Amino acid sequence: MVVFGGTFDPVHVGHLHGAHHVSKSLGGAIVTMMVAPNPQLRKPPVASLHDRWTMLLLACKSNPVLQASRFEDGRDGPTRTVETLRDLTRTNDVPIVWAIGMDAFQNVSSWYRAEELPEIVSFFVLKRMSPSSDEVPIGFSRVKEPGQLLESPGGVFVSFKPMLDVSATEIRRKVRDGCDVSESIHPEVCKHIIKNRLYRG
Ligand code: ATP
Repeated sequence: MVVFGGTFDPVHVGHLHGAHHVSKSLGGAIVTMMVAPNPQLRKPPVASLHDRWTMLLLACKSNPVLQASRFEDGRDGPTRTVETLRDLTRTNDVPIVWAIGMDAFQNVSSWYRAEELPEIVSFFVLKRMSPSSDEVPIGFSRVKEPGQLLESPGGVFVSFKPMLDVSATEIRRKVRDGCDVSESIHPEVCKHIIKNRLYRG
């Protein structure tokens, strides 16, 4: 199972392009795009969970390899990936690959109960414009081929394919400033933002 988790505030072409790259690298695997209701290690989202979920659905609906998921919804308190992974392993007996940008990957060691992660997940790391690091969290080891991530947990594959230089922060800023963001988001997401006057400040 391949999961691409995010705040998706809003989902943008960088996420979609990254998820496609992960799918292709893993032999056409379906990528579960999982919205985090209440992410712990960052500022609270600007858009409501309802809007972030609606935008994710719109961006994924015509895309056969991307599947929007609100699996993390329904638990009280902060969204903790280790708890999500434990819940997923109860219902799936295949190894879980978590796709993640290099910026977020560098914080993995500070995640809640991070020491449990090597036994339940592998990471497919996408390079972003932020600085890269060769370090992997304790208990993980680098693998040379992405397909190895599907064999057992505890692996880290770092992809050096250039990703798109897009971030949700930049999109929110541009919308607030009245700039055009249509090149950075799916057309249906763009319509949803305009219609509901999201990110206007
Ligand atoms: P923000 O700017 O609000 O922090 P973001 O654009 O980083 O948002 P998130 O929803 O926080 O988006 O990111 C979800 C995941 O997608 C993270 O692992 C992040 O590193 C990754 N990601 C975000 N933007 C890109 C991109 N342009 N290319 C590849 N991965 C990305």
